[in-house]
Amino acid sequence: MTAARRFAATWGREPRASLLDKEQRKIALAEPAFRETLRRRVRSPERFAALMTGRPFYIAEDRPCRLCGSSRKRPRDHTCYDCILGKNQTDWARMQAGLRPPAERSLAGHRDSLARQKREKAGESLSRTWETAKVQ
Ligand SMILES: [Zn+2]
Repeated sequence: MTAARRFAATWGREPRASLLDKEQRKIALAEPAFRETLRRRVRSPERFAALMTGRPFYIAEDRPCRLCGSSRKRPRDHTCYDCILGKNQTDWARMQAGLRPPAERSLAGHRDSLARQKREKAGESLSRTWETAKVQ
């Protein structure tokens, strides 16, 4: 990478330890000075190592989670990795079934979904159709 391209990549970006996103990782991998400054600003060496290797979590034995007791943390914002997985579990199951999470639905769509679930529980077999595909 040329000096001009490195300058363009880091323009307006400051190595901040509060939020380690993929943009910061990309710049840190390309620019050694940015990486060194970021490494000094991130308090936990495990967190920085997890960011640079792309691991989804790191172990922080000294700071277990208040809610679940796990010491796996996300490098991005050092929140609890297991709590985030648990919190989004129902949304993932719905999205795999082809349904939107309740927060993204309109009120009419949400009521329609609830009515369908109620009818399916009652034993009625419903066919679901979309524009491109038909699922039983
Ligand atoms: Zn937790």
